[in-house]
Amino acid sequence: PSLFSAIDMAPRDPILGITEAFNADQNPAKINLGVGVYYDDNGKVPLLACVQKAEEILIAAPAPRTYLPIEGLAAYDKAVQELVFGADSAVIQEKRAITVQAIGGTGALKIGADFLKRFAPDAQVYISDPSWENHRALFESAGFTVNNYSYYDPGTHGVNFAGMIADIKAMPAGSIVLLHACCHNPTGADLTSAQWDEVIAAVTTGGLVPFLDMAYQGFGAGIAEDGAVVRRFADAGGPLLVSNSFSKSFSLYGERVGALSVVAASGEEAARLMSQVKRVVRTNYSNPPVHGGKVVATVLTTPELRQLWEDELAGMRVRIKEMREAFVAKLKAKAPSHDFDFVRDQVGMFSYSGLTKEQVGKLREQSIYAVDTGRICVAALNSRNIDTVIDAIAKVL
Ligand code: PMP
Repeated sequence: PSLFSAIDMAPRDPILGITEAFNADQNPAKINLGVGVYYDDNGKVPLLACVQKAEEILIAAPAPRTYLPIEGLAAYDKAVQELVFGADSAVIQEKRAITVQAIGGTGALKIGADFLKRFAPDAQVYISDPSWENHRALFESAGFTVNNYSYYDPGTHGVNFAGMIADIKAMPAGSIVLLHACCHNPTGADLTSAQWDEVIAAVTTGGLVPFLDMAYQGFGAGIAEDGAVVRRFADAGGPLLVSNSFSKSFSLYGERVGALSVVAASGEEAARLMSQVKRVVRTNYSNPPVHGGKVVATVLTTPELRQLWEDELAGMRVRIKEMREAFVAKLKAKAPSHDFDFVRDQVGMFSYSGLTKEQVGKLREQSIYAVDTGRICVAALNSRNIDTVIDAIAKVL
């Protein structure tokens, strides 16, 4: 037998399984709500005008494809840091924040996890129950033991805050707690501002290491509003890691643009952290790709393009909210005895709809695809498919 002959098949990615079944479905009216992508009202992944214009600027000044520095494009790192922490933030003024370009949000999480494993090898990691399915795998593959903290309450379709805060208070000092900065994936249930106050206090008092994952900045209440949580953690002092992604907010999924930021206690400490984060990058992929970073940096630092981006992102955010409103109103008309009002209160691209695995199975018989957990992508609804979806859901309730 060869080295490879005894290797088992890895478990299938549950979301990719839905996409495969969807692709194989011959029904021309099929609808995929299982995706993790924003679609416009025509059911297409948008190419943002700000991205197109930035690419025109880049093409007009052709440049050789040299290596970027290990930490990425300097203009990108600076612009992203200001976006994430706020340009006037103390951590930037005091040079306590470091930011490195990363291969999407996933790459940022992986660099952060590998970095933490070097310096906190025995720390426990805690993720929300449930969380984005890759969080557990990423931290486990970095060598950590990953635990859950209470998060979702199926009874209210919101956050089980009493459970969450009790679990945070019980975490051993030095534990790493992964928090979704906004637009929780997969549930769509976010904390209130007052609840964040309590979480920040508990994390600080407990000597925990917060790791904020922000994959949907701008899809909740707005760019600054969604980033406020990061700023409040930064102001609270203490160590802080932040991963962010432009996959959704720039519709740049395949360009793999994200960043990891780390907040240190002093500028001198930040320099040491940067040298170590660079070492992690160097041993993973050496340095990041050029194109996506240049596009995002160009948009963020060119005032007209920046305004265009903010408007286009607002357009995506508003469209999702309209779909939430329409979903609730139309279901109320079709199935008045069922209460779906919580869908309006959930935030971001996703909703834990409360549909059971069995109901999701029955939807699939009608060529409508959702995740077995009941997660639907609200950003995959549009003015043309929503009535079909509502009729199908009303039938399976
Ligand atoms: N974190 C969360 C919560 C996500 O939902 C995702 C993916 N959508 C990511 C990180 C990874 O982002 P990216 O696709 O940029 O790697």
